[in-house]
Amino acid sequence: MKPIEEIYPLFTQSGNVVITMHQKPDADAMGSSLGLLHFLKQFGHRIHVISPTNWADWLKWMPACEEVIDYEYSTDKATAVLDAADMLFCLDFNTLSRTRHKANKLKELQCIKILVDHHQEPSTDVFDYGISDISKSSTAEMIYDLIIGSGYRKKINTEIAQCLYAGVMSDTGSFRFASTTAAVHRMVANLKETGFDHTQIHENLFDNFLENRLRFIGHVLQNRMEVYYEYNAALISVPWKDLVKFDIKTGDTEGIVNYPLSIKGIKLAALVIDRDEEIRCSFRSKGNFDVNTFARKYFQGGGHFNASGGRSKETLDQTVQHFKAALKENESQLQ
Ligand code: 5GP
Ligand code: MN
Repeated sequence: MKPIEEIYPLFTQSGNVVITMHQKPDADAMGSSLGLLHFLKQFGHRIHVISPTNWADWLKWMPACEEVIDYEYSTDKATAVLDAADMLFCLDFNTLSRTRHKANKLKELQCIKILVDHHQEPSTDVFDYGISDISKSSTAEMIYDLIIGSGYRKKINTEIAQCLYAGVMSDTGSFRFASTTAAVHRMVANLKETGFDHTQIHENLFDNFLENRLRFIGHVLQNRMEVYYEYNAALISVPWKDLVKFDIKTGDTEGIVNYPLSIKGIKLAALVIDRDEEIRCSFRSKGNFDVNTFARKYFQGGGHFNASGGRSKETLDQTVQHFKAALKENESQLQ
């Protein structure tokens, strides 16, 4: 993988550009992709953003989100766009398996592939150019760095600023995590000078749910959470029937894994959800417990040191047992 700086000269050559991100995109994946779209648009490229799957309703306020193609829903259209691509930007993921059914299509593409990502253990052999930096707060911050680094600071408009602000704010837990460096705050100050309303963005992301989601959270905290004080850990396990009963949609479960971390002394929180087709797992930790390694070792996943995800092919009960056995194996690191 060659350094990202080597693609800067390509910005001024018009072409077919595709931007893509991981499945079930979050605010950072969608915000960094749309931020890059609004930047590259200014050079006259033909640009499409393709998501591997659908996305949460609370992302739909982002400028140009309505143009994003859902690969699963519009496979033929997305395939035609991918076949015509000269350049493919891969944002906020670093291994093709994170794009679900789209992975095989991406593998066969011959165009230039560019990585911009901040997760651990990238598959660098897949990409021609790129940057992978686990010290970065968010992919949104890396797109900001790319714009500044390529010398086009003046092209940052309010569309770009809103998208990148949403990405960095969301991936830093509203500027709370250790990844929130002085450089992140400087970036936000510069974005803010374009004049967007940041309060509105917080409302769009956090105060935009239906009643059923809040009732669902009450239900799972009351009935589906187990706390293992001996391991400083907690687990919320959600059966498929709960998702059906509360009419839970894509994005409604985002953030729920953080609740157990607010219990004094809890260092590891897990959320395990039976999504019918597979069991999806989310892990969050505080301090020195590495959930990236934990997710890789026990749940075919990965991510960051303090936030990761994975999956299980077992039943929900078996997955819970598997998790408890993993806690026992990690007892000393959890003290
Ligand atoms: P979440 O729990 O929000 O789904 O994911 C937390 C973090 O872990 C995100 O940064 C996400 O990209 C990453 N992640 C989630 N699931 C997987 C997975 O199956 N594989 C890998 N490599 N990373 C994942
Ligand atoms: Mn991210």
